[in-house]
Amino acid sequence: MTETQVEVEISYCGLSHADVHMRDNDWGVSDFPLVVGHEGYGTVIKLGSKVQSLKAGDQVGIGWIRDSCRLCSACCEGAENLCETGYQGTFLGSSAGPFGKAPSNEFGGCFSRVMRVEEAFAFLLPAHLPPELACTLMGAGCAMYEPLCTWVKPGSSVGIGSLGGLGTLGVQLAKKMGAKVTVFSRDAAKRQAAMELGADGFVDLTSSHSMLRAENSVDVFIDTCPRDSGCDFLRLCKINGTLVRVGIPSADQAGLQTSWHPLIFTSKKVAGSIACGSIRTKEMLHLVSSNLDFFCRPSSWTACKIMPFSEVNEAMKQLQEQQVESFRIVLKW
Ligand SMILES: [Zn+2]
Repeated sequence: MTETQVEVEISYCGLSHADVHMRDNDWGVSDFPLVVGHEGYGTVIKLGSKVQSLKAGDQVGIGWIRDSCRLCSACCEGAENLCETGYQGTFLGSSAGPFGKAPSNEFGGCFSRVMRVEEAFAFLLPAHLPPELACTLMGAGCAMYEPLCTWVKPGSSVGIGSLGGLGTLGVQLAKKMGAKVTVFSRDAAKRQAAMELGADGFVDLTSSHSMLRAENSVDVFIDTCPRDSGCDFLRLCKINGTLVRVGIPSADQAGLQTSWHPLIFTSKKVAGSIACGSIRTKEMLHLVSSNLDFFCRPSSWTACKIMPFSEVNEAMKQLQEQQVESFRIVLKW
């Protein structure tokens, strides 16, 4: 343990499609043995000698990043997800190139019972933030907050593609940031969920009529799907609009197929986005903890399914096969 690390006893961890992708080496960057998990919630139990901002007993959240250079301009601005030399991913090893400088088997992801992480990437959680919400904020919340901060202004129209763990938090965060939100899903049964979450509209992706009407309707479209959806979401963006992808497809579906012509003639943009830096992570935690009534409204659509870690294989199977009746699975020790 280094002098700037803390040791954290994990009590909850959100389950993400990224964990399944890494287990199955879908991205071609997994090193085994591997402990996945990047939505950790736990208690600080040991401190390095130079740790100043945390104390034993603090509740902290751990997300996608466990360390970064902290010297480059991005890191100095608290945007460590854009670290110029590559951040150290929480569960990424040397096969992930600059994002896995340390061998993954020297560390473990947040499925660990106890893990060590740099103090700067163990985020002190606001009091009263429920653990099952806090841990999903560290992964799904950060993944959605980043593109919303980058591309969305109050009054912007935002389309969110698919309503899973990322999409549900995305709808709520976008609404609290003053956007007009439309959910796009293949599952018409999710219309009610979208509206309960606060969305302003819902479009059935399987309806060609609805999709035609939705063309050129959003300033920003955020695609959260963890696989190739086969949809041309760019046509949903207005002129000068942006299609942002946050769901990470497997390596065999990672190709980008689009024509330059709509990009040139309509100034539309295609972008990707990964996680949040420390500044935005803290902002998001503050935003959510200041609006707990909104983010924790009693609704089956915002509920997590909490499963014990002893059932992790079953939990991953349910997520992979989309059997989850609520939108998030959280594992508990
Ligand atoms: Zn850096």
